[in-house]
Amino acid sequence: MKLAHGISLNGHSSGRHFLQIPGPSTTPDRILRAMDYPTIDHRGPEFQKLAQAVLAGIKRIFQTQHPVVIFPASGTGAWEAALVNALSPGDAVLMCETGHFASLWKKMADRLGFVVEFVPGDWRHGVDADQLEAILRADTGHRFKAVAVVHNETSTGVTSQIPLVRAAIDAARHPALLMVDSISGLGSAQYKHDAWGVDVTVSGSQKGLMLPPGLSFNALSPKAIEAAKHSRSPRSYWDWAEQLGMNANGWFPYTPATSLLYGLHEAIAMLEEEGLDTVFARHQRHAAATRAAVQAWGLEVLCLNPAEYSPVLTAALMPAGHNADEVRRQALANFNLSLGQGLSKVSGKVFRIGHLGDFNDLTLLGALAGVEMALGLANVPHHKAGVQAAMTHLQSTAPSAHAMIKAAA
Ligand SMILES: *Cc1c(COP(=O)(O)O)cnc(C)c1O
Repeated sequence: MKLAHGISLNGHSSGRHFLQIPGPSTTPDRILRAMDYPTIDHRGPEFQKLAQAVLAGIKRIFQTQHPVVIFPASGTGAWEAALVNALSPGDAVLMCETGHFASLWKKMADRLGFVVEFVPGDWRHGVDADQLEAILRADTGHRFKAVAVVHNETSTGVTSQIPLVRAAIDAARHPALLMVDSISGLGSAQYKHDAWGVDVTVSGSQKGLMLPPGLSFNALSPKAIEAAKHSRSPRSYWDWAEQLGMNANGWFPYTPATSLLYGLHEAIAMLEEEGLDTVFARHQRHAAATRAAVQAWGLEVLCLNPAEYSPVLTAALMPAGHNADEVRRQALANFNLSLGQGLSKVSGKVFRIGHLGDFNDLTLLGALAGVEMALGLANVPHHKAGVQAAMTHLQSTAPSAHAMIKAAA
């Protein structure tokens, strides 16, 4: 595989690498070209125009009227920013063990000196909103200052229903801030920062936004901005107030990632040209076709609740006695296809198929064909029917099929 700049595992292989991990996603040519410009003076008028356009545009992607802070960092940085701006040392936070990423965010909160109550989970379901409501109702002293949950759990392919989490907090009449990690949801799954009443949404550049890694985001609510004024956590690089003050006029408090901002400008344009709702419907359709393939192979989808199936990725559970990493190894070695590995608790037990970002029907079928052949090469018992099942789904839901159904009606 030819990686980049002469770094190569086994010489040149022709054609495109299939990067079907659930983030980073493939960066489309339009975005690569948009970034291929000289770095400009980040205190000059040209940059100011770019920053103002990007800061306004990213709000539309989060579906918010309020400010979105952009950090030159991976998503993990924006996790930290959310916690240290809104909370004070010793504050209690309610979090839910939906999978690997929720567990990492919890570990970070522990390390930063917050007191986390971690609701255990089985990694096959999303946040249990009824359970949250009961915990919050019992917290009559309002010890919890925040509820922090993962929207799209990238390790399991389970998408929690954030409006239900909001409703649980409201039903308990609890004043805790709602913080949501939508690092892998934003730009692929429906997400409404304002309408869903989220106080801080954390996201990153390399998943639904189709950019290379390196940018991360905190979308804020007025309540979160107010909380930050009273927070006593030490912070400097991550300070929202510094960012918001400078951003108001199109500037940043330190050197921004100029090239990634060129790319972000293009990514926003692409998402809006297609239309956010069309983008979300496309992801849902590809997810449904992928599940049809997994089920036709005779494998199990890790997510157990159909209302929580992820539009971004599908995790497939291996039959007992077979290692998912062998399937991934065969896919990469033979077909230049990267699949997501099982993380921590589900290591070796699942492989993950990313179907997000710059993606279409035939990209999906190529990826699924690679998986089907890799299952064969890894001697995993399965039915050779997955690609066909996906094709059947894609054909019956193709735009012309819709037109035919309409005409017949
Ligand atoms: C990718 C991801 C992260 C981590 O983001 P980094 O950019 O790797 O720091 C956190 N949460 C979720 C849900 C993710 O998908």
